[in-house]
Amino acid sequence: MTKSCISLVAILAFTVPCHAAPRPNVVVILADDLGYADVGFNGCEDIRTPRIDQISDGGVRFTAGYVTHAFCSPSRAGLLTGRYQQRFGHEQNVIFSPDDPDMGLPRDQKTLADALGASGYATGIVGKWHLGAHEELHPLSRGFDFFYGMLSGGHNYFPHLLTIAEPRRHEDGYSSKILKNRERVDETEYLTDGLSREAVGFIERNAEQPFFLYLAYNAPHTPMQVTDEYRSRYPHIENRKRQTYAGMVSAVDDGVGRVLDTLDRLGLTENTLLFFLSDNGGPTKANASENTPLRSGKGHVYEGGLRVPFAFRWDAVLPAGVDYDQPVSSLDIFATSIAAAGAAAPEGQSLDGVDLVPYLTGKREDPPHPVLLWRMKRKGIPAIRSAVRIGDFKLDEDRPREFELYNVAQDIHESNELSESQAERLKEMREVYERWASELVEPKFLGLSQRKQYERERYGSNREAK
Ligand code: CA
Repeated sequence: MTKSCISLVAILAFTVPCHAAPRPNVVVILADDLGYADVGFNGCEDIRTPRIDQISDGGVRFTAGYVTHAFCSPSRAGLLTGRYQQRFGHEQNVIFSPDDPDMGLPRDQKTLADALGASGYATGIVGKWHLGAHEELHPLSRGFDFFYGMLSGGHNYFPHLLTIAEPRRHEDGYSSKILKNRERVDETEYLTDGLSREAVGFIERNAEQPFFLYLAYNAPHTPMQVTDEYRSRYPHIENRKRQTYAGMVSAVDDGVGRVLDTLDRLGLTENTLLFFLSDNGGPTKANASENTPLRSGKGHVYEGGLRVPFAFRWDAVLPAGVDYDQPVSSLDIFATSIAAAGAAAPEGQSLDGVDLVPYLTGKREDPPHPVLLWRMKRKGIPAIRSAVRIGDFKLDEDRPREFELYNVAQDIHESNELSESQAERLKEMREVYERWASELVEPKFLGLSQRKQYERERYGSNREAK
């Protein structure tokens, strides 16, 4: 062996120690507007989700798994940064505005893809982004090295409806052609199936190295569109909208099955962190989802808006088939994933989530989150909704300045209001909230609900003349 070869071997031995365990893969599967009650692992009876249930059965079911916001875009901002999104001004649904670099996840925030990518992971997003449409907000500018999906919020599912090659206006979003990295392509399958196909392809291409896959289905968000094949699985559901919804959920379930089968086939199941959750509670009227026994749904700070179906499987480390009842958060996905990967948190970016593994393996018995907090606010307007959970109790402000206190451990439906009998507790919880709120910043962009104001300020009276 020549001297240079010896040096090379020495360098390799130093940088890639042969005794190190292979680093785990991370797969986060996010459903969109899926109700708490609409998966088998939470007791659903009319919709079958056998493949999604395999994640829960093979790992941990979170019975009190929360997201950070009751609707899409802010919830995703919290999940992908591991930080309360109110700390960096992302509190509203973004407007699809491809020429605005400030309409989306603020550019000074790093994502889980940034953190894992810097640590040598291949990083892919398949599905719905919804964190900005400008070039600098595109997933490939935010730490991902593969993207197949859509930048906008909701999206049509049938290929013949995906026609717009150069979407400019917000209303173009649902019908825009799918992006493969930065190129518009023609999807040929029912969109949920197409996303599942691309997720499988990403895993296959990266099987030889650690990877992070963020599979963000837009299903079962509206528009209510499903193929006859999926619908035909539910002849027993009489409500037409619920039947459509059931078929849309089945398409997601089949996709999860394809991901699980691919991991199995490639021998990757054992050492892959696999998260499944919804981005917010079900909007029961819009898509016929159900959040039973939780109160209310999407958009609200009652449990039905914030507590979601949530499961986590990692065969190499976690027990199988167990329930974990302490409150956990979608914020924890970031901290758990970088701890498992041995990756560093982004410099200067403090995390609000925690590594859940010590709690789930029994090393720690204290609650991962003694306090969880929520705020819903629009730019330039006082907070419209807020909530705080401390231990078993939750203080809801679903209407401004109207406070409702519940023991959600005993009263999951939030029907026995305690603010009069426990006024002191209410006051203390409100003080905890106020301290947290004082650390937050004003929302940085006008959201979808302020679209007219946004367009007036940005383009003047004539939108087309811009
Ligand atoms: Ca959603």
